[in-house]
Amino acid sequence: AELWQDVPLAPPDSIFKLTAAYKADTYDKKVNLGVGAYRDDDNKPWILPVVKKATQILLNDETLDHEYLPITGLPEFTAAAAKLILGADSPAIKEGRTVSVQTISGTGANHLGALFLSRFYKFNGAPKIYLSNPTWANHHAIFKNVGIEPVEYPYYDPKTIGLDYTGFIGALQEAPARSVFLLHACAHNPTGVDPTQEQWKAIANVIAEKKHYAFFDCAYQGFASGDLDKDAWAVRYFVEQGIPLLVCQSFAKNAGLYGERVGALHVAPPNKETAERVKSQLSVLQRSEISNPPSHGARLVSLILNDPQLFGEWKRDIETMAGRIIDMRNVLYKLLTEELKTPGNWDHIINQIGMFSFTGINPEQSKALTEKAHIYLTANGRISMAGLNSHNVRYFAESLDKVVR
Ligand code: PMP
Repeated sequence: AELWQDVPLAPPDSIFKLTAAYKADTYDKKVNLGVGAYRDDDNKPWILPVVKKATQILLNDETLDHEYLPITGLPEFTAAAAKLILGADSPAIKEGRTVSVQTISGTGANHLGALFLSRFYKFNGAPKIYLSNPTWANHHAIFKNVGIEPVEYPYYDPKTIGLDYTGFIGALQEAPARSVFLLHACAHNPTGVDPTQEQWKAIANVIAEKKHYAFFDCAYQGFASGDLDKDAWAVRYFVEQGIPLLVCQSFAKNAGLYGERVGALHVAPPNKETAERVKSQLSVLQRSEISNPPSHGARLVSLILNDPQLFGEWKRDIETMAGRIIDMRNVLYKLLTEELKTPGNWDHIINQIGMFSFTGINPEQSKALTEKAHIYLTANGRISMAGLNSHNVRYFAESLDKVVR
């Protein structure tokens, strides 16, 4: 018998499949609203000007070589990355009780965080992680891979195309004490629906009361509002409240460094002594998994974060990206509501935040958009706002109008 005859054929990843179908389509007005990567107004990937500059600096730096980084990564990168998400004056940083490890982008941070919990977290019963319904599909796979069972908490309400706040709070209250909740720090993927600050405060209250653990995933800092600090608000608030937490950080979107795989895992234990023990175990885990992380992307981000002038330029680049996306939301909203008078309420298009928008259309309507108009999006009606631009937004609005009528 053949060695691998019992290996079942796995389905292709739905997002990568969508991109392949889009690429194969020869229709000139085709639109790709599937993938979560920024595109400029000409639908082209955008190398941030500050990244170009930093790349030049690295190229001219004769002192750099290709030696291994330390197991936990480039120290000047991880230290600056921690300040970026936790805030320069974070009590956790001041007290020296943060642990930061460089990871293979946000996915690697999620994995290392999950692996660490699977080994060391004192679960109340069988290991479980509470994930928002819906969430980034990979969350389910990442936790299952390390033997933590994903369970869902209510998050999105299809009736309001907004947050199911009551359901969310209810789930936090009903979960056994010391449960682990995964929270999207900002720009929730796939819905684009975030809690307000008042809602975050109430969420933090229940989490503190029930002694839950907050597993923050932050893949879009700066990309949501255009402001790095604003997008870090929830994480910083939780730290101030003394809630035990970790944060997974990605520089894929906000620095446009998708393929460079730059990220970090930050854990905030209660004191310095615990932080040392946590760091030692994260090093052991990292060593067996990737030995040490890649250097190039971390050097780029480190330059940008540690040089005030480059940091300022980066902020402007982030504003450019976030601003274009917010513009597209406004244009699409206007077209649907004022010009086309598309049936239904479309306020969510401008109320949602970040790369993605849940349009509220059903799988049949989504399919019709692809089949009739060559517009590619996931069946759940999620669109990547970055796929819209001044050239195709009208075509998209008209096509959407047709399928919902
Ligand atoms: N978390 C969420 C919620 C995401 O949307 C993404 C990117 N799609 C990631 C993590 C990780 O992405 P990356 O590994 O490219 O940083």
